[in-house]
Amino acid sequence: LGRHKDDHRQSGFTYNGVEFSQNNLNIFAGLCAVDVPEHVEQMMQALEDNGEVCTRMGAYKPRTNPYSFQGHGKGCLPWVFEKAGKHGIKVIAMEITHESHIEEIDNCLEKLGRPTGVMLQIGTRNTQNFELLKAIGRQKTYPALLKRGFGITLNESLNAAEYLASEGNANVIFCLRGMKTEAGQPHRNMVDFAHVPAVKRLTRMPVCVDPSHSVGSRDRSPDGILDVMHATAQGVIAGANMVLVDFHPKPEKALVDGPQALLMKELPAYLEDI
Ligand code: PEP
Repeated sequence: LGRHKDDHRQSGFTYNGVEFSQNNLNIFAGLCAVDVPEHVEQMMQALEDNGEVCTRMGAYKPRTNPYSFQGHGKGCLPWVFEKAGKHGIKVIAMEITHESHIEEIDNCLEKLGRPTGVMLQIGTRNTQNFELLKAIGRQKTYPALLKRGFGITLNESLNAAEYLASEGNANVIFCLRGMKTEAGQPHRNMVDFAHVPAVKRLTRMPVCVDPSHSVGSRDRSPDGILDVMHATAQGVIAGANMVLVDFHPKPEKALVDGPQALLMKELPAYLEDI
């Protein structure tokens, strides 16, 4: 990924017809967690209406509390993938938390005739789960989206990305999602999007920002602009190549992270602003 002294290859790759590079921008608006078919349908319809071909959909959720909703897992994959195909979604960013999930996703897509594509997301809690990284690195069917570890150095997170490439999969996007701070206020995490150009300088990975998990709320500045929008703007102005952002038709009914989800009616203005 550009971290080896003899590696001078260009950045970027194309997956399922969508180009990812250090020179373009893809938006992945979607549900933090898949809940009911109606919400997935509404989300994908809104994306189609706005000409978007990528989304985020969490089926396997890594939760801090074992009693919180853990995601529908493989049970929801068939209908999520079918709906994606119906609405022209080409790439779904989907977090996996265990190696076996790769096979579950692959089997399901194969059975359905591959109506859509999947980008395997590695969450911040698994940035240094080296066995998971190696498993994702060993397969070359799906690209990877690696979240920065929220409590480790940037260098450690970049080395984690290299685990994917060293096993053979260099189709990797690096995602900034904020860092843990002691106070946890006013945002859930300290927004770290000033690091976008640094990561682009240090590696040849396209860089994603996740304003939703950085900010963690629908708070607004005194001028009425959502903090999530301000953070998105910071990331995009800094040169981000991908935006991963939570939307939900009914945030009050969302099973994970509802308070940070933007409303469906805010999608056109959000896209326009970017
Ligand atoms: C997510 O994107 O759904 C998520 C859990 O993010 P993170 O790993 O950054 O907390």
